[in-house]
Amino acid sequence: MTSANTDTSVVVIGAGQAGLSVSYYLQRLGLDPGNDFVVLDRGPGTGGAWQFRWEALRIGSAHRINDLPGMDELGLSFDNADRHAPAKAVVAEYYRRYEEHFRLQVVRPADVTAVENFGTDLIVNFTLDGEEKEVTTVTVVNASGTWGAPFIPWYPGLKSFEGRHVHTNDYVSASDYAGQSVVVVGGGTSAIGFLLELENVASTTTWVSRRPIDFLEDGELNLEARKDAVQMQDEAARAGKALPSIVSGTGVPRTRRIQAGIERGLLTARPMFEAIEPDGVRWSNGSFQKADAIIWSTGFRPELRHLAPLKLREKEGGIAVAAGTAWKDPRIFFAGYGPQASTIGANRAGRTIARQVVASLSRFKRLEREEREEQERLDSEQAGGTPAANERPWWETE
Ligand SMILES: Cc1cc2nc3c(=O)[nH]c(=O)nc-3n(C[C@H](O)[C@H](O)[C@H](O)COP(=O)(O)OP(=O)(O)OC[C@H]3O[C@@H](n4cnc5c(N)ncnc54)[C@H](O)[C@@H]3O)c2cc1C
Repeated sequence: MTSANTDTSVVVIGAGQAGLSVSYYLQRLGLDPGNDFVVLDRGPGTGGAWQFRWEALRIGSAHRINDLPGMDELGLSFDNADRHAPAKAVVAEYYRRYEEHFRLQVVRPADVTAVENFGTDLIVNFTLDGEEKEVTTVTVVNASGTWGAPFIPWYPGLKSFEGRHVHTNDYVSASDYAGQSVVVVGGGTSAIGFLLELENVASTTTWVSRRPIDFLEDGELNLEARKDAVQMQDEAARAGKALPSIVSGTGVPRTRRIQAGIERGLLTARPMFEAIEPDGVRWSNGSFQKADAIIWSTGFRPELRHLAPLKLREKEGGIAVAAGTAWKDPRIFFAGYGPQASTIGANRAGRTIARQVVASLSRFKRLEREEREEQERLDSEQAGGTPAANERPWWETE
């Protein structure tokens, strides 16, 4: 299906849940991995962003991780995985076996630096083991997730802080904070997980959140069931706005472990501080908390820097994406974006986007053929055949 001018028909950027799901369905629809489509991933190993998550995040303390499509063929399911095992290890291992089983031929560590227009085609620039490379393609599926774009809100004095600023994506282990005063910022389950882990390790923990915590009565967060959160994401994506925080729409499930933390007074959030000082944080009423580290569990933004040359961004701050396709450029698809940013959403995106990609390829191919035939007709007319109508004198065209 590769066109005469391109190396491949589809480049999938990212081999997390979204990229693998798209790849699975592309293959099911008849595209050959490594030829008709190429998957590029920056990570050194399998697992998407999960390979970088902290050790203490266990399968049992993550929200539900949905199986990839077709994973049952391998006899694997996250539902049967050891709940006490680190999520990072289990996901990396299951994805590794999945990639191998379906021969998805993911290229890594391939860091995509820019996607550029090249006439009607696209050039994807990337570095592979430090070497600059490029691949030309007809379409791109962006499945780059959010892990590479951590978000830290600005507060006065942010830069003056002499302790450590740590974002969720830098957090490794509670032992790094032994005996220290730690302020944890954020109202989601990552912040709560850190507080539970730091208890009895740090000398003090202080929890702050921009808004009161919305504790849900359910013990498990069903991202799909929180229709309002998914709808908020979808509306923002369609309008080309910056995507809202997913936590602000989903709330926090009141698991037994979390409930116990609330009861013993560990999980009581204070309102946001007003300013950061070199050795701590200060609230508007003048109260002060010394801090050696501030852990920012303040979310992520979609990682889209490599798409900048395509100028897809709207003045509203985001990229307008409806049903997985960029409004401004129908050759660019988004998997795992906005309302699809959960393992189940990413799975669903895989099927819809793969179908759309295949439909677009046949449309582009038909247009290309029609253009080629038209060009051949004009060429043959110019080379001594019947001249094109608009080149003949008017009396001959009557
Ligand atoms: C802390 C945390 C916990 C979560 N827990 C859950 C949960 O329990 N259940 C759930 O359903 N969802 C959860 N999520 C939501 C998350 O969106 C899903 O985990 C889902 O796995 C994301 O899949 P993805 O493929 O979209 O992204 P990722 O897993 O982030 O995969 C994106 C891939 O793209 C690669 N990439 C990025 N940029 C480039 C580039 N320029 N060039 C090449 N490769 C690139 C990355 O290296 C990565 O491998 C969690 C999110 C966070 C932040």
